[in-house]
Amino acid sequence: MTSIDEAAPERPATTDAAADVLRGHIRDVQDWPQPGVVFKDITPLLSTPAAFGVVIGVLADIARQRGATTIAGIEARGFLLAAPVADRLGAGLVPIRKKGKLPGPTRSATYDLEYGTATIEIHADAVRPDERVLLIDDVLATGGTAAAAHGLLTGVGAEVVGLAVLMELSFLPGRERTAPLDVVPLLTI
Ligand code: AMP
Repeated sequence: MTSIDEAAPERPATTDAAADVLRGHIRDVQDWPQPGVVFKDITPLLSTPAAFGVVIGVLADIARQRGATTIAGIEARGFLLAAPVADRLGAGLVPIRKKGKLPGPTRSATYDLEYGTATIEIHADAVRPDERVLLIDDVLATGGTAAAAHGLLTGVGAEVVGLAVLMELSFLPGRERTAPLDVVPLLTI
């Protein structure tokens, strides 16, 4: 494992270093929020500045490599990652929120969950047509949320240059459901 003391946030870190950092700073919570789910808790990462810095640095590199001009974060944990990445790039930040949270004119997308549906929204004027947007979230699971977010962004005219996630749960069909989105996981489980 890479020591976070060796991987200072100011130095460029590799995706391998980020994967090592994530292995050491993600807590598995069994049967939460419901039986059968292993929740990937990122709070140990958030509370360890050097580790968080490595991960944010790698996400910022991914955004730079793809020429992103705007970073979009998915509520709620995606905001915690997208905001510092946008700040490092000097890029705009676009929140994709749960229904009823954004005050302006919005566009919405509804997608299926295991039981029922969920709706997310974006401000209709959130991005200009020439913006290159990197979408960020913590976990790609079934892919419904990311696919809906992708649809919202393209619907308001953005070019989505990829989906960066801390963890992809490869035993779920997230990648298929988000195709043709370019998925960039820092750690695949
Ligand atoms: P999905 O739409 O199934 O890909 O779920 C993705 C959203 O749910 C993301 O915003 C994640 O934050 C959250 N999520 C799904 N599964 C997990 C998990 N096992 N641990 C933590 N968050 C999860």
